[in-house]
Amino acid sequence: MFRNFKMISRVVFGRGCFNQLDDILADKRADDNSFIVFLVDDVFENGALKGRLPVKHRDLIIWVNVDDEPKTSYVDALTEQVKAYASDLPAGIIGIGGGSTMDLAKAVSLMLTNPGSASDYQGWDLIKNPAVYHAGIPTLSGTGAEVSRTTVLTGPEKKLGINSDHTVFDQIILDPELIAGAPADQRFYTGMDTYIHCVESLNGTYLNAFSKAYGEKSIDLCREVFLDGGPDSDDKLMMASYCGGMSIAYSQVGVCHALSYGLSFVLGTHHGIGNCIVFDYLDEYYPEGVNEFRRMVEKHGITLPRNLAAGLEEDKLDKMTDVALVLEPLWENALGKNWKKIITREKIKEMYKRM
Ligand code: NAD
Ligand code: ZN
Repeated sequence: MFRNFKMISRVVFGRGCFNQLDDILADKRADDNSFIVFLVDDVFENGALKGRLPVKHRDLIIWVNVDDEPKTSYVDALTEQVKAYASDLPAGIIGIGGGSTMDLAKAVSLMLTNPGSASDYQGWDLIKNPAVYHAGIPTLSGTGAEVSRTTVLTGPEKKLGINSDHTVFDQIILDPELIAGAPADQRFYTGMDTYIHCVESLNGTYLNAFSKAYGEKSIDLCREVFLDGGPDSDDKLMMASYCGGMSIAYSQVGVCHALSYGLSFVLGTHHGIGNCIVFDYLDEYYPEGVNEFRRMVEKHGITLPRNLAAGLEEDKLDKMTDVALVLEPLWENALGKNWKKIITREKIKEMYKRM
């Protein structure tokens, strides 16, 4: 079977296109009584963006905190907050922020129409009911969360996404001006997420012409942004993230992401930086990509944290390894159908001990 994947219904791209949000939402508001929920990264709570939100009537702004990556318990609490605010469903959930905030918006839009806890749906195609209309507006570029069919959540047992067709945004607004103010190191780490998506997709066994087309375009854009620089870098980075996300929609990520999920679950390491920490040790799997990555690290004066997992207690290393091994499609994409013969628990632990 070939994957018949759902794509975003509507996309707007361009500098200043955020100003169209009001018009876009006008279509979604049934009447003056309907309301929209804006889930916005709290980094913008005291900034100019706040005054640009097209808030009307009964609309609700929730400032979300992403110091920790999204947890299922946080999604449940936000869902309860929206339900407590009104007995009717909102006409839309608008997520404005980086990958964490966009994922929270996706997850809340799903949990408003599906019973139970977000942790019940971590996995593949467990969501039964369509979500509330939801739109994503990135303020950082690289995760591809704006195009993906997943919302990555840390639950009580595992870090695993709610993967479903209903997860996909109905609308995205790609305005490169919104990413201009991101701190340089955060921009780099999140940008490298896209670079690594492409290396893993382009070197994976699941690769087909569809993934290759998007992956090659994205990796070229990453090179222009992180090796050459230039005035259009924000526009290019935004499109690199989009194309990188499209590339893995039809293929998969690989060794770096599997190991980075383990690090994140046990140590709370954020996705972008976690990927960078792991990728630096993967010469064996992605030699050319790792070499080029090191040039980018050097050019941007980034100092990667070291010795995070080295010296960690055995039970924590075991848990890290468990979390990494659950991600079977990633290993199969990276190493082929016989991956279990190539990668063992011991091998993974030995790699973690070097990080
Ligand atoms: P993030 O959303 O976690 O944000 C990182 C930091 O940057 C936060 O402190 C945030 O407040 C701040 N920030 C965001 N935009 C800013 C701006 N314009 N100016 C100043 N500060 C800003 O970072 P991210 O790397 O975009 O997202 C990582 C998250 O995305 C992880 O939770 C990861 O699991 C998830 N993810 C999801 C997918 C998916 O397909 N759904 C894919 C990859 C990663
Ligand atoms: Zn990623």
